[in-house]
Amino acid sequence: MLLLIPGPVQTRPEVRAAMAVDIAPWDNDFAPEYIAIRETLRDVAGGIAGRHVCLPLQGAGHFITEAAIRTFIPAAAAGGGKLLIPMNGTYAERMARLAREAGRTVVELPAPDSRGVTPEAVAAALAADPAISHLGVVYSETGSGIVNDVPALGAVVRAAGRRMIVDAVSAFGALPFSLQAQPEVDAVLFTSNKCIEGLPGIGFAICPAERVEAAAGNAGSWSFDLADVYSTAQRAGWGSFRFTPAVQALHAFGVALDIFIAEGGQPARLARYRENCRILYEGGRALGLRPYLDWENQGPVIVLFHQPEHPDFTLQGFVDALKRRGVLISNFHNTAAPTMRIGCIGHVGPDEMRFALGALRGALEELGIRQRDAA
Ligand SMILES: *Cc1c(COP(=O)(O)O)cnc(C)c1O
Repeated sequence: MLLLIPGPVQTRPEVRAAMAVDIAPWDNDFAPEYIAIRETLRDVAGGIAGRHVCLPLQGAGHFITEAAIRTFIPAAAAGGGKLLIPMNGTYAERMARLAREAGRTVVELPAPDSRGVTPEAVAAALAADPAISHLGVVYSETGSGIVNDVPALGAVVRAAGRRMIVDAVSAFGALPFSLQAQPEVDAVLFTSNKCIEGLPGIGFAICPAERVEAAAGNAGSWSFDLADVYSTAQRAGWGSFRFTPAVQALHAFGVALDIFIAEGGQPARLARYRENCRILYEGGRALGLRPYLDWENQGPVIVLFHQPEHPDFTLQGFVDALKRRGVLISNFHNTAAPTMRIGCIGHVGPDEMRFALGALRGALEELGIRQRDAA
């Protein structure tokens, strides 16, 4: 089955095979492997040894996002700052909910989900409310496929003397990012199972060490405290864990990370995903499907098409017809308009995207759906 969803992604056989071992997380043979993963990720994030640290946390992306919010923004009841979030997609909404339920104050910046938020809009919102301490932004908005321009947004955050938390869960490893170039960033967040092409189980935050040190006592949660992850590493070593990790997923992630580096790192991955995206976007249009985004606002991670306007069309029926042809796409959509979502990330290339287009054509034909402007 070809998995074309924006995470968990299609993985390489050797990455999956690395899961098939028993490992004691605290074993002295595993510690160097874990330390190497942390150091490599710090480097991929443009961090510097001694100045930036990699803080892993068990679980899904939401967990690492909640941990970063709790760690860097004190609770409202403790006189904490405010988190400004450009509301241009599902993951922005999710970040807002995570923050509110953790007792943090959120300021919503309304924005359309069809393009990245402008630096001007963020600068104006920051100027209007001096109590905003942080911008929380989703780099690649997996709800619609747009990209928020994190380097450009960071420049206005820096100029305003504020801080930034970046949900780079579906961006890290594909879209360019550098902590050295963006000193206003408190945390860049991602997981094992998206653009680095590992398996699910671990989230990561890469942060300036001095910011984490200053954040001790903020979290109001032991599980979700990145400052505690940091102080544990200081005390017990960078190969240590607080709680049982998804250790096989971590081991497999090390294999995926080595492959990521060998393939040419972020620029090479972006080039592959962009080409996947272009083939899908153009091929979908040739089948008569209407993309949700204009090409100039289309990010490289996921393409949405409007569902065909046909009385017999149901998304689940279409997903099932595609699945019979060996391709699995999401059976839900996050946009107000009915859409279908097809991922461009994972261990897939041009051949897989062309195979997917053949499956799309076959599924549309099986369901008797002929698009009006089909080529
Ligand atoms: C996948 C994703 C997440 C995290 O999702 P989980 O299901 O919690 O792993 C967060 N943000 C974005 C932009 C994502 O694409």
